[in-house]
Amino acid sequence: MQCNKEHIDKGKAPPLEPFYIEPNENHIYKITCSAGHEVYHAPQELKFEILFEIGCHAIIDGYYREAVSSFTSALERFYEFYIKVLSHKNELNNDIYSKSWGKIKNMSERQLGAFIMLWTMEFQAPPETLSDSQIALRNSVIHKGRIPTKEEALKYGNEILSIINEQLTLITEKYSDEVDIIIRDHVRRVRDLVPDDATRSFGTQGTLISLAKAGKTTSIEAGIEHIETFRKGIKQAQELMPLIQALQGKNN
Ligand SMILES: [Zn+2]
Repeated sequence: MQCNKEHIDKGKAPPLEPFYIEPNENHIYKITCSAGHEVYHAPQELKFEILFEIGCHAIIDGYYREAVSSFTSALERFYEFYIKVLSHKNELNNDIYSKSWGKIKNMSERQLGAFIMLWTMEFQAPPETLSDSQIALRNSVIHKGRIPTKEEALKYGNEILSIINEQLTLITEKYSDEVDIIIRDHVRRVRDLVPDDATRSFGTQGTLISLAKAGKTTSIEAGIEHIETFRKGIKQAQELMPLIQALQGKNN
């Protein structure tokens, strides 16, 4: 951000410098540019969006067990997201919410039960949930060490994509205020973790499952094509960096 400002102040085009960073639990990334500027970047995506994206990268890289595991976690964190949305709708105090969540936070079956009943009461219909055949696949992969094929991982991920897409579209329509509160809380939590005097940047990355564009990507295959193009672009930019920097140095 500082480099951009310095270049623009001098009437030059902003420099291009790609960074390869690995996702982490806090979802905050400290980046130091080649000029020594530090910036904390915090993508706005929530956990279920990131986990689904990790599953897609795992498919590209050939880790199909890990893809099934990440897709599973994405769906579970999506259920938590919806429960949190309703806690805001009911203006529940954070402490009370945490106490109740504490009773179900270590057991995914309890969370699924809470999700099904809350959804049913809100929408007057049971939610679509994972089919029996895909539950069987998940259990054999996660609990019995089954190594799934690429096709199985794609089928599993696509079923979860379809479920989340459809429900996320309904959620963003019906509870836009509550979703805004969750994103604002997420940004505030990130702010609290970053030193006060540090440069911060926020933004969306455009994940395959995305609150910002719910329901837009209809298959993992279509989304993966975009991710692969993006990964190639980053790699090429990294390879070209020494040349770009040499040219920029000459122009200074
Ligand atoms: Zn810089």
